[in-house]
Amino acid sequence: MRLVLLGPPGAGKGTQAKFIEERLGVPHISTGDLLRGAVQRQTALGQAAEQYMTRGELVPNDVVVEMIAERIKERDCLEGFLLDGFPRNLTQAEVLERMLVSHRAQLDHVVSIRVHPEELIRRLSGRRTCRSCGAMYHVVFNPPKQNERCDRCGGELFQRDDDREDTIRARLAVYDRETAPLHDYYQHRGLLRSIDGEGTAEAVRSRILAVLDGTQ
Ligand code: AMP
Repeated sequence: MRLVLLGPPGAGKGTQAKFIEERLGVPHISTGDLLRGAVQRQTALGQAAEQYMTRGELVPNDVVVEMIAERIKERDCLEGFLLDGFPRNLTQAEVLERMLVSHRAQLDHVVSIRVHPEELIRRLSGRRTCRSCGAMYHVVFNPPKQNERCDRCGGELFQRDDDREDTIRARLAVYDRETAPLHDYYQHRGLLRSIDGEGTAEAVRSRILAVLDGTQ
């Protein structure tokens, strides 16, 4: 199955992607994670991307498109994949469509997770991420057992630069301007499945599973 997860920053795409990956056995491909990895390793791509990411802006299309084109050619993507954070604008959506045609493949669903802006800001400004394994916590809603340490691997928890309030607002504005038009794009293609992203992670997961199982 080939899926795209759409939704503003803080909608819970990363959390839900992990569930879906386990359930469907398709790789979870997050452009944000790939880019953060490149920044951490200070590759040429990472150096090119870093300034945009810390400002909450989109990294130029050619950088991201090349990264995705390489990734979906890999063997583990033959039977499908779950894209999280890509496409992020109409140009990327059109490139993805052309890439899939050249692989004689197509998307099955585009799952859009909807959450109110005030809730997104609450979620993102309290978010903490593990430097070692990428696990996510929230200072109020999902605190780690031990202060500033990851429950899973003991790694150090930190606040992403782009999870600070002014950058969060910039990221939400970018989403409205650049990414929200993809709803119409995929609606026209009959692929859009809209999900209420409020409530617990388990509640949202059930709504997504209902869509994937075809019961909604
Ligand atoms: P995310 O973890 O998906 O919120 O992504 C973090 C940051 O990485 C974004 O704010 C962008 O700067 C960059 N980024 C991730 N995916 C893309 C994309 N498809 N196109 C452009 N920039 C991206």
